[in-house]
Amino acid sequence: MKIRLLLAFAIAAFINPEAYGQAKKTDGSLPRPKLLVGIVVDQMRWDYLYRYYDRYQSGGFKRLLNEGFTCENTQIDYVPTVTAIGHTTIYTGSVPAIHGIAGNDFIIQATGKSMYCTEDTTVETVGSTSKAGRMSPRNLLSSTITDELKLATNFRSKVIGIALKDRGGILPAGHSADAAYWFDDLTGGWISSTYYMKDLPGWVKDFNGKKYADKFLSQGWNTLYPIDTYKQSTADNVPYEGIFKGEKSPTFPRNLLEIKASTPGIFRFTPHANTLTLDFAKTAIENEQLGKDEIPDFLAISLSSIDYIGHNYGANSIEAEDALLRLDKGLANFFNYLDKQVGKGNYTVFLSADHGGAHNPKFLNDNKIPAGFFPTQKLLNELNQVLETKYGVKKLALTFENYQVSLNNTAIAKNKLDEDAIRKDCVKFLEGKPGVAFVLDQKDAATANIPEVLKERIINGYNPERSGVVQIILKPGWYSGYAETGANHGVWNPYDAHIPLVWMGWGIKQGKSNKPTNMTDIAATLAALLRIQAPNGNIGNPIEEVLE
Ligand code: ZN
Ligand code: ZN
Ligand code: ZN
Repeated sequence: MKIRLLLAFAIAAFINPEAYGQAKKTDGSLPRPKLLVGIVVDQMRWDYLYRYYDRYQSGGFKRLLNEGFTCENTQIDYVPTVTAIGHTTIYTGSVPAIHGIAGNDFIIQATGKSMYCTEDTTVETVGSTSKAGRMSPRNLLSSTITDELKLATNFRSKVIGIALKDRGGILPAGHSADAAYWFDDLTGGWISSTYYMKDLPGWVKDFNGKKYADKFLSQGWNTLYPIDTYKQSTADNVPYEGIFKGEKSPTFPRNLLEIKASTPGIFRFTPHANTLTLDFAKTAIENEQLGKDEIPDFLAISLSSIDYIGHNYGANSIEAEDALLRLDKGLANFFNYLDKQVGKGNYTVFLSADHGGAHNPKFLNDNKIPAGFFPTQKLLNELNQVLETKYGVKKLALTFENYQVSLNNTAIAKNKLDEDAIRKDCVKFLEGKPGVAFVLDQKDAATANIPEVLKERIINGYNPERSGVVQIILKPGWYSGYAETGANHGVWNPYDAHIPLVWMGWGIKQGKSNKPTNMTDIAATLAALLRIQAPNGNIGNPIEEVLE
């Protein structure tokens, strides 16, 4: 009897798909949202949702949290936690072992050649004379949820990716996107590549012609509210923050035009860049008629400037606080716009991050918390000395990129050296070095005497063709980075791996869950919402509680 009842329910649910979505259809067609908007906030730690909550507006982060569904315990289920992988994993539901994006830069192990994630020398820049447009998703080995939407609708769905960073726009938009746009420092406008198009659409040229970036730069950067009202108000002029050439101190207000003279990319380090990205996204929605018919479109936005700001000033900076308050304002404005342009209830939005960010190690040390700066280059040189003494060959270790040792396989083959023995030498050399918690040969990852969660993340992150053969896991608070000021990300620890994941709109319940979820579950949840096939390298599961 019970089984029959369950079966009846199952059949009813199956023939009545309206029960699953918000919009009621009277014509018997499958209900779907008109527009999906993915928002990735680059380097948004999970705690940023709450740290400045009291000052957020009702329509931004607070609206997402109160109207939507928040998965409070979402973790990145691989290492290294960097931008290219984060964006790729969100949209593929997959991990470097499978999707092949093994870092922002990675080493092609067979040749030793360094490859940038979206580098593609077969294409040209569209919209500038710079080389910044020679990019495509060709290094990405699996399909994205945006590709699957295209496949499910015979390519009638429109898919557009937009981000300041090339990789933040290209990787989410997938292989079959109509377009991806990213920012060009040389022209101060949005560019693309011949992978997508021969020429920029008229509306992009018009937008670029208005020179918004220059206008923002001439405004400089001052705090949105009086500086003494900020939580981080005592942290403006501190030794943990980076300064640009021409600046005397890392403090407000900033004269951006002055800094631009020696730092052409300064615009990226300001919250204005996020504002410009959202303005450009709105212009795209209007001009590409996104969300205007029954075939779902997908707009993949990534907001990059919190990442630049985090790298230069650290998480506990007034600069990061101001950027978040301005982003919150920008999001409120953007959701308002979507309500009017696409219609409330016609769109689904999710907001997440590609990774979080650490605190500056010296700042932690000064507050008695263990942390440190891992001297990558110095140790790499020392390791090569040790290997040269033993094997008589220079530079047998190529890089420590992504906390992995990549070996010089060409030299190893040429000199007929024992690669296994060199791996062991690398492990032995790195063991016990300052900041090193564990170091292991990738071959031993499954059996190593380390916590289970680390094994899983190491194995997920290891792509044999593109990752280094020895994995370094640092102690909490430690990282390797560009500079000793500011901060970085890339490791397994919660500050880098715990990310926000909030959903809102069509088909989404209201509520929150503390149940563990993974970054790889996002694409599967989107596939379930849209009732389309999951991406072809997906390893995640739909987050059941989110869906109506
Ligand atoms: Zn990032
Ligand atoms: Zn400062
Ligand atoms: Zn970063």
